[in-house]
Amino acid sequence: MQLFGAYFGVAVKCKSSTVCKPGFYRSALQTKSCSKCPPRSYTKVEASTSCQCEQGYYRTETDPANMACTKPPSAPRNAISNVNETSVFLEWSAPEETGGRKDVRYNIVCSKISTESGQYEPCGSHVRYLPQRTGLRNTSIMVMDLLAHTNYTFEVEAVNGVSELTAPLRQYVSLNVTTNQAAPSPITVVKKGKTAKNSIAVSWQEPDRPNGIILEYEIKYFEKDQETSYTIIKSKETDVLVDGLKPSSAYIFQIRARTSAGYGGFSRRFEFETSPYSVAASSDQGQVPIIAVAVTVAIILIALVTGFLMSGRRCGYSKAKQDPDEEKMHFHNGHIKFPAVRTYIDPHTYEDPNQAVHEFAKEIDVSCITIERVIGAGEFGEVCSGLLRLPGKREIPVAIKTLKAGYTEKQRRDFLGEASIMGQFEHPNIIHLKGVVTKSKPVMIITEYMENGSLDTFLKKNDGQFTVIQLVGMLRGIASGMRYLSEMGYVHRDLAARNILVNSNLVCKVSDFGLSRVLEDDPEAAYTTRGGKIPIRWTAPEAIAYRKFTSASDVWSYGIVMWEVMSYGERPYWEMSNQDVIKAVEENYRLPGPMDCPTALYHLMMDCWQKDRNSRPKFEEIVSLLDKLIRNPSSLKGLVNPSNRVSNLLVEHGSPEGCVFRSVEEWLEAIKMGRYTELFMESGYTSLEVVTQMTLEDLRRVGVTLAGHQKKILNSIQEMRVQMMNATMPI
Ligand code: AMP
Repeated sequence: MQLFGAYFGVAVKCKSSTVCKPGFYRSALQTKSCSKCPPRSYTKVEASTSCQCEQGYYRTETDPANMACTKPPSAPRNAISNVNETSVFLEWSAPEETGGRKDVRYNIVCSKISTESGQYEPCGSHVRYLPQRTGLRNTSIMVMDLLAHTNYTFEVEAVNGVSELTAPLRQYVSLNVTTNQAAPSPITVVKKGKTAKNSIAVSWQEPDRPNGIILEYEIKYFEKDQETSYTIIKSKETDVLVDGLKPSSAYIFQIRARTSAGYGGFSRRFEFETSPYSVAASSDQGQVPIIAVAVTVAIILIALVTGFLMSGRRCGYSKAKQDPDEEKMHFHNGHIKFPAVRTYIDPHTYEDPNQAVHEFAKEIDVSCITIERVIGAGEFGEVCSGLLRLPGKREIPVAIKTLKAGYTEKQRRDFLGEASIMGQFEHPNIIHLKGVVTKSKPVMIITEYMENGSLDTFLKKNDGQFTVIQLVGMLRGIASGMRYLSEMGYVHRDLAARNILVNSNLVCKVSDFGLSRVLEDDPEAAYTTRGGKIPIRWTAPEAIAYRKFTSASDVWSYGIVMWEVMSYGERPYWEMSNQDVIKAVEENYRLPGPMDCPTALYHLMMDCWQKDRNSRPKFEEIVSLLDKLIRNPSSLKGLVNPSNRVSNLLVEHGSPEGCVFRSVEEWLEAIKMGRYTELFMESGYTSLEVVTQMTLEDLRRVGVTLAGHQKKILNSIQEMRVQMMNATMPI
């Protein structure tokens, strides 16, 4: 009865207010007035408590009744990809049509062409997505751990709160991407086999992602806590017997694999122990072999390993020049670094230059080559594009450098010298030599074909067309190629955008390994090498002043290349004369940040242009810094302050020595290390007094990891200490 009364009560109350007309609704019964149906909704009946969405428009359960009906977004726009070995950076613009909602998110669907079936299949769970694969708010993503040399398709899908209601209509944009060559992934499984008092047998599993054919493994080992004295041996198999060890001692082992793309990362450290003096030999399985057997086995194994090491040298390209101990090298004192790949051999050291060419470059029969058209002018003759078809291989596009008729013997030597150098390199960011034609005329050098030609011209042609991430991707590639060259012990001396080639995937490769630019003793030669002057604008002051060409001077040139890239091929120092450039740089003036250049990149350029060459970053550090920036694109958002930027005036570099600073922030800014202010504050270094107590370890803890920066900050701290001491000394 009571219920009945209540029901009536409501009905009466309802009757007492206005009845909503079609097109109007009253959601809550308590509300007196009727509301007009929100946009994209309607009602055709009277007394409606809600409005229905028009066809193609939707409302989620949580959308309020007075909210307009909405629809799914349109597809994302302007999607681009930037491939870096086996990582891909995808970037897109928000959809033109958000559907009337603010909750647009993006999902990535990754598929790849299966090598077995040739059909598309999901990419699998080993692929990593940064920050995540679904529900992305930002319009970019980094996809990592893809397979090398594989075709992938990425669908970037835009969704919003009502997309689910419209399934299966998906709104996406597709990107087809081919990954590049990549180094193998680290080895994860390393096992100890038989141990004796002086030896340990070690075996391991192939890396999960070899990314190519494994050419060899490198085994690094050292006695525990004695890392500064380590030994490296190489093996083509997945096991090795390591001998010459101390009894009852713990050894640390790390192994890495090498493919044609270079070395992968080292495995984590594995610790194994040799047997004590008293025990002849033992094994993991608990077997105790008889001494005689153990000795015999050890001898056989040693003989096998030695035999293998000797035969393994076959893959070397300079047998005559190899150190007999090449495959096993000992290092005392951690400062000596094992060259990550091989060491470059200067073809000048060959008595017969022809021998060097044939040592490092493959002779190609001219019948395998089809010349198509002229694409450029080289120092020694025309550069053409064409096709190379080697027996049993598919035809590939190539660039063909020719040596013009009427050459002198020296010109021929210099021309082929480039092939002798190039042929020693194998890296995705170094132009790849296919071979040479020397047995017929014209003499030719055949290299991989780079569709977009030289970087300076390419950038000028495409002024303002790339995203910052694409530009950083190019710079990363160049730095990676240079890291490889510096590890090989090769100093380029002429690193400039004009000597970088770009392929159709925007991959940049270092080229131009000519011999003739090597400066002779004649002081005039510094100004009259090929094509005119030595590249003053690209060359470090110490190399100009006293020919100190090192990887550190290449780093200076790299900073100039960064500037060229970020300014889309502008000429460094504009129309200033070479003499004025030398003078300005000597007086500590530097190029200003290019327009729209992220501050982080300009800081890096400035670091490359440190007067003290030891304070410049190493290529290794440059690569890892650029990687960090690519992984965290928001770090590229801050641009060089346009009001501070004077497009054709140089800026002063260096710290104002002798200044007295009022705060940590002011001090860091003054020494151009302002980027660390936040880190200093967060770590509690808020006053200069505390800062003057800092050690290298403290700096590392704060997060200053670049050696050049550590040095700069510590030097300045030292100066401050002296100043403070002077200030407190009685007069
Ligand atoms: P170089 O003698 O190496 O300075 O080459 C002269 C010009 O030829 C370059 O500036 C490029 O435009 C072009 N070129 C050289 N090598 C290649 C290549 N591998 N692929 C495409 N173009 C090339």
